[in-house]
Amino acid sequence: MFTGLLAELEKNLKKLPGIGSKSAQRLAMFLISNHQDDALKLADSIRDAVEQYTNCSVCNILTEYEICKFCSDAHRNEQLLCIVENTQDVFLIENTQEFNGKYYVLNNLLSPIDGIGPDEISFPQLISLVKEREIEEVVLALSPSAEGESTINFLAAELTEFVQKITRLSTGLPFGGDIEYTNKLTLGNALIRRYSV
Ligand SMILES: [Zn+2]
Repeated sequence: MFTGLLAELEKNLKKLPGIGSKSAQRLAMFLISNHQDDALKLADSIRDAVEQYTNCSVCNILTEYEICKFCSDAHRNEQLLCIVENTQDVFLIENTQEFNGKYYVLNNLLSPIDGIGPDEISFPQLISLVKEREIEEVVLALSPSAEGESTINFLAAELTEFVQKITRLSTGLPFGGDIEYTNKLTLGNALIRRYSV
């Protein structure tokens, strides 16, 4: 059993996704034993990234600039908007190389029992953006979970007045699956074969 500062380090490492007690202990020991320079560099790099990353003022992607590289890229199709749950999803979609529009990050999925309504998925900002940009197609690239489905239904109903075409990813994605765990090829195909809601 670790005590003192080492126990504190273990406790904090355990909060990271995928890190259990054993891994946390091994990492804590690794950091304080032979790799002190690397450990301090890691600490600095965590602090720098955490302090400097913020949500893009247009699309909510986590970025180190006020406006992210996607929003400021003039070569991307402004009339095509892909709506995702989080920044990680943006990078998954980018990896497929099948999308050249812009993005919008909700940061949440609707879940009334958890108190997550339209305001918590940045819906008011989304609707202003859609009206202002004369968007031709909105792609709802959300996980087909219960929350994902209700968010898709809500957004499709609310946006239909302002957008000609509203699509969602094809059913190549397993129901209840998460797009984070879908491989690049499957996600790329789901994007190509997207269909109207
Ligand atoms: Zn942006």
